[in-house]
Amino acid sequence: MAENKSMAQELLYAPQNGHVRIDTAEEAACAQYCEGYKRFLDEGKTERECVDAAVALAEAAGFRPYERGEKLQPGDRIYCVNRSKAVFLAVIGKESLNSGVQIGGAHIDSPRLDLKPMPLYEDSELAYLKTHYYGGLRKYQWVAVPLELHGVVALKNGEVVSLRIGCEEGEPRLVIEDLLPHLGAEQSKKPLGEAIPAETLNILVGSQPLEGEEKDAVKLRILTILHEKYGIVEEDLISAELCAVPAYRAMDIGLDRSMIGAYGQDDRVCAYAALRALLDTVSPQKTAVCLLVDKEEIGSVGVSGMQSAAFDTFMADLCASCGADRAVCYAHSLCLSADVTAAYDPNFAEAYEKRNSARLNYGVGLCKYTGARGKSEASDASAEVVARVRRMLDDNNVLWQMAELGKVDYGGGGTIAQYMANRNIDTLDAGVPVLAMHAPFETVSKLDCYMTYKAMRALYEEA
Ligand code: MN
Ligand code: MN
Repeated sequence: MAENKSMAQELLYAPQNGHVRIDTAEEAACAQYCEGYKRFLDEGKTERECVDAAVALAEAAGFRPYERGEKLQPGDRIYCVNRSKAVFLAVIGKESLNSGVQIGGAHIDSPRLDLKPMPLYEDSELAYLKTHYYGGLRKYQWVAVPLELHGVVALKNGEVVSLRIGCEEGEPRLVIEDLLPHLGAEQSKKPLGEAIPAETLNILVGSQPLEGEEKDAVKLRILTILHEKYGIVEEDLISAELCAVPAYRAMDIGLDRSMIGAYGQDDRVCAYAALRALLDTVSPQKTAVCLLVDKEEIGSVGVSGMQSAAFDTFMADLCASCGADRAVCYAHSLCLSADVTAAYDPNFAEAYEKRNSARLNYGVGLCKYTGARGKSEASDASAEVVARVRRMLDDNNVLWQMAELGKVDYGGGGTIAQYMANRNIDTLDAGVPVLAMHAPFETVSKLDCYMTYKAMRALYEEA
């Protein structure tokens, strides 16, 4: 036992608030990093927009599109977009890919309200859009909130029309109405999960009839506006992906400006960290790979989700370009599944087990396992992997904490970790603790955002 330390200092694990552990220079770096993060949030409110924003940032940082079959050298910076909804990026390292790659993986889809294939209707001279919610959202939180409409309409001629309605100053916004309290006596008796049925999440889009029309004149007026602006007709909405998302920009929260409030921070807060860290990585020992994927919120399914073979194909191609074998590469790789965790909320203390909850300002949260009940659906990283990551983060002065998502048997959740681990890749969850996760407005601490970025850099640059 070291002479100059007390027994308590030597033996006890005593984490401290990050703000007392970092100096003013690091506080400034943290603040600067978060300005870039807030811009990323405002640019990317759907997975497609996040891919576009990521590609623009990557190209500005010297990345170029990867071409299957090309030979790659250490220091090469490439990216590969999967169907406009996911992107894989890599910086080729000095070592062979057979010694493994360092993977930072996050998802860029967030809970939202998708429009149904036949969304537009008129009722009582008001025009509405029918929605089908995407991901685990609490329906009561989405009423009486200003909304924007983002997405694409794919035409039969192959053209894809992009829509972004409500993002610019002065543009109109949309809303789903709630019942007034004066008439809410019956509704208020219902459990929270039943008060707003899914089929009442209908977005109000218009109220003025088209002159000279008798039937569905309000709906027709909306269609004329869509036709004039985007050249689309009602049937085109069948082959569209339009999402209603909250209509506010990322903002500082707290009189001390220590936090950020925004829509879609799960998991763009980690996506930006994983991306920014890769863009700042120049000549890593091992090849560094960042993947930003879709569909995590509905089970990582589909061609653009983490279960898709698209990632395996990309990695097989990358290995071929570097003269390596994908199976050997996977077996020696390390992945940080960069996804958010629940931050301890004293306002809802009953849902958390305080000793094992992540806290705001204590750094990036490591989750050995996620899942539900008896660790169901958890990949449960090995003790050895957790130890390796502890060492890696401590060596790089990254503040970190262990996290478990709330009390056992209170619910649970998953990430892409299990799908990476299934590929024979050692994987640990590591991400930003969030207050009010999946709400239309989520809150994180700036310090935790920055520490997650630092964790990703430590991963990519691990020797
Ligand atoms: Mn997530
Ligand atoms: Mn989520």
